[in-house]
Amino acid sequence: MDDKMQKIVSLCKRRGFVFPSSEIYGGFAAVYDLGPLGAELANNIKQQWWKSMVYLRDDIVGLDSAIFMHPKTWEASGHVSGFADPLVECKNCHSRLRADHLLEDIDVQADEKMSEEEIAEIFDKNKQKIKCPQCGKSDFTKLKKFNLLVKSNLGNFTEDWQKAPVYLRGETCQGIYLNYLNVLNSMRVKIPFGIAQIGKAFRNEITARQFVYRTREFEQMEMQYFCSPQTDMAEYEKLRQYRWQWYLDLGIKEENLKWHKHENLVFYAKEAYDIEYNFPFGFKELEGVHARGNYDLTQHSKFSGVELDYTDPETKEKYIPHIIESSAGVGRTFLALLSDAYSEENDRVVLKLKPSLAPYKVAVFPLLANKPELVAKAREVFETLKSEFVCVWDDRGNIGKRYYSQDEIGTPYCLTIDFDTLENDTLTLRDRDTAKQERVEIGELKALIREKLA
Ligand code: ATP
Repeated sequence: MDDKMQKIVSLCKRRGFVFPSSEIYGGFAAVYDLGPLGAELANNIKQQWWKSMVYLRDDIVGLDSAIFMHPKTWEASGHVSGFADPLVECKNCHSRLRADHLLEDIDVQADEKMSEEEIAEIFDKNKQKIKCPQCGKSDFTKLKKFNLLVKSNLGNFTEDWQKAPVYLRGETCQGIYLNYLNVLNSMRVKIPFGIAQIGKAFRNEITARQFVYRTREFEQMEMQYFCSPQTDMAEYEKLRQYRWQWYLDLGIKEENLKWHKHENLVFYAKEAYDIEYNFPFGFKELEGVHARGNYDLTQHSKFSGVELDYTDPETKEKYIPHIIESSAGVGRTFLALLSDAYSEENDRVVLKLKPSLAPYKVAVFPLLANKPELVAKAREVFETLKSEFVCVWDDRGNIGKRYYSQDEIGTPYCLTIDFDTLENDTLTLRDRDTAKQERVEIGELKALIREKLA
C-alpha cells in the first residue's frame, strides 16, 4: 500500500474515523464501521449533499426508499442478467481478481460491461504480461463473470429460497425509479424535476482492497433528474457543472479532480462521464454523471405493466421521461476528503478539512487540569458553545500536545482558558491551519466562530 494511504488508514483507526468490521472476530472482509469521528465526517458530507441537492433546489425532492424491493426490479433493470464483473483466480495463491482491473494495470483497454467472451479473449491474449498483484505469478483460471447482487431469504421461509431470492439493493436509484409515479402524483413537480436519496447499497465486489474506496456494503448519494427527450442533454451539461462545483465547494483541490468520458457506452446511454479523484493509488472514479435516455422507466413500465408516461401540461405531449443521473459514494468522498486534507508540516500532522466538514468545530481546554477555577471557567465556555457548535473537551497532557492532537483530526479552532481569563474574560483562540493565536473576548466568541465557520 502507498505510504500516504497507509498513513491515512492508520490515522483513521487510531483516531476513531474508521474501524474494520467485526475486528474481535478477526475482521470481515470489505466491510468497515465508522467510528465516532468518521460518523461525524460522513454525516457532514451527507448533509452538504442534501443541502445542495434538495434544499437549494426547488426542482428536486428527497426520498428514502427501502433497501429491499420486489425482485422483478432487478430483472427489469438488467442487474440479474448483466450486473457482473469478470473474475479470474490466481492458481498459485488463490487470490480472486478482477480481470478488467488487471488489464487496465498493463494499459489494455477493457471494462466490466464487455461480454464474458469478449473480455476472456482480450485476457487470454495478454495473459503472459499479467502478474498476480499478490504473489507475482502469472497463472490464472479461466475467466468467469460473477454477478454482484447480494441475495437474501427475506420473507421466504422455504429451504430452497435461493431459487427465488430477494436482493439487497445494488444501487439506490432503483428505489427512485419505482417511486417516480408516487412522487409525480403526490408532489407539485413538473418535468424537469429530480428525486434525490442517500442510502446503503450492497455489492459482492470481487476485489475489495483500497480501504473504504471499494466495499461490499456502502452508501450512495444519488439524484435522478427526469427530463423531456428534447432537453435532457442541455440539463445534463448543467448537472455536470453543478456536481463538479460541489466537490470544489467541499474544499477539494481542482487539480485533484478530472473528468473521464466513457468511450464504451451501454446500448441505451446517451453520454457518460465520471468525476475522478487523484487518490493515493491514482485517479479513480468518485462519481458517475450519466445520461441514461428513457431506458429505466421503459423497462419498469414493461416489467410491471404500469404506464409510466408523462403528459406535458402545456403541450399535452406524452412521453417516457429521459433520465440524467448523478451517482456518488459517501465512502469515496470521505476518502477523497481525507486524502486531500492530509498534510504534514514540520513535526505535526494536520487534517486541513474545510471547517464545515470537520468532525469537531471547536476544542476547549483549561490550561491546567488541576486548577478547579480554570476547569470551572472552561466548562462554562464549553457549555455555552456546545448547543451551537460540535465541541470537544480536552484536559490531558500539555497544551502543545492537545493542539497537535486536534490538528490531526481537523478541529479548526482550539480555545484555551488560562489565568488571564479569570481576570478579564478573554481566552486564546488558536487557528489549526496557521497555528496563530489571538486573544478574544468570551462575549464575542459565538459570533466570531459563527463568522469563521461561514
Ligand atoms: P467501479 O467501476 O469503481 O466499480 P461503478 O461504475 O460500478 O464503480 P456505479 O455503479 O456508477 O459505480 O456507482 C456509483 C457510485 O457509487 C460510484 O461512483 C462510487 O462512488 C459508489 N460505489 C460504487 N460501488 C462502490 C463500492 N463497492 N464501494 C464504495 N463505493 C462504491
